[in-house]
Amino acid sequence: MKTFNVPVIYRSPLISAIKQQRKQQDRMKKDFTPTLLDFGPIRIQLARHFGFCYGVENAIEIAFRTVEENEGKRIFLLSEMIHNPQVNNDLLSRGVQFLMDTSGRQQIPWETLTADDIVIIPAFGTTLEIEAKLEAIGITPLQYNTTCPFVERVWNKAEQIAGKDYTVIVHGKPKHEETRATFSHSRHHTPTVVVKDMDQTHRLAAYILGTAPAEQFYEEFKGQYSEGFDVHQHLQRVGVVNQTTMLASETQAIADYIRQAIQQRYQLADEQVPERFADTRDTLCYATNDNQTAVTGMLEVPADLAIVVGGYNSSNTSHLVELCEEKLPTYFISSEEKLLSASELLHWDFHHHQELHSLQFLPAKEPVTILLTSGASCPDAIVEGVIRKLLSFYGLAHKVDEAVALFN
Ligand code: SF4
Repeated sequence: MKTFNVPVIYRSPLISAIKQQRKQQDRMKKDFTPTLLDFGPIRIQLARHFGFCYGVENAIEIAFRTVEENEGKRIFLLSEMIHNPQVNNDLLSRGVQFLMDTSGRQQIPWETLTADDIVIIPAFGTTLEIEAKLEAIGITPLQYNTTCPFVERVWNKAEQIAGKDYTVIVHGKPKHEETRATFSHSRHHTPTVVVKDMDQTHRLAAYILGTAPAEQFYEEFKGQYSEGFDVHQHLQRVGVVNQTTMLASETQAIADYIRQAIQQRYQLADEQVPERFADTRDTLCYATNDNQTAVTGMLEVPADLAIVVGGYNSSNTSHLVELCEEKLPTYFISSEEKLLSASELLHWDFHHHQELHSLQFLPAKEPVTILLTSGASCPDAIVEGVIRKLLSFYGLAHKVDEAVALFN
């Protein structure tokens, strides 16, 4: 895979050495067991895959290069480039400004932009409507484009099935930048509706089956269907695509549920199903699949707790947390600064969107075993910071540098 020029401040000598060694030992990526870092009283089991993915490194390279090459120009990002506070703050400190917040609320009015300004499209991509807006101002919308190719792949898949007259069902978080972009691209080609989870899938299936009154659909899915969507006509032939970072198990369950509803509604034999249900497989990206499978592998190892590192608004990170929570006490932190002491930490409750203050998160036993992973937009340097901080609670922070030698 292509390598990118990412600022060295985001790298970690320890994590790079570990990843390099694991890659050499397992080029086909078949081994999802974690890497043990045994520091005596504290043992860290580091997931096989985590951290910056292709799309994030690509976006960082383009954004930092754009800043370097355009001194004196005003540079805007449509919104956060990726969901990591450190990377976004680094860009802000270099003078980059955000036009919108992550839910699409305007921070800087369009009217203040001129044709001389630079606007960078984030890794999530953007809507066709925003591209048109930029064009109208005189800004070439895709000149500084960091849209991840794996997101574009979803748009292509939606276009492909649209070309065969299927309606597209987008499984994603309706307010997430990527889902808004995918919805926009898809509805340009075909009627499109967004479902955010299994509950909404059950509701949508009721309209497919005709067991819910059609007029209710428009209230229930308000803001999630394309203009002119006709619930009688547009749920007869469908295909499902995903936001790239959803939970793999839920993604599969949602596609299966819709498929089964279509089969039941039209009394189709198995071989007839493709006439009304486009088989898209899933459109999750490789990083989502690798990181979630690595968490599943990591969870097979006995441990006391799990720590997941990443931006609090990061979708892919929250799904890693979700997986860990099923088995262990799990703490979702954005950096080592959240580890206040050996007995106190701040961590994100993504279910209720609040930061919690917890005590005694490290059990009073030795050794303590901690599972550790991070999201696809989290710099490895932050994960190393977390390891150092945890070790400092045992007076062992110096051991990190010794550990690097073991993997080189
Ligand atoms: S998580 Fe996947 S889709 Fe998102 S930027 Fe990374 S590789 Fe691209």
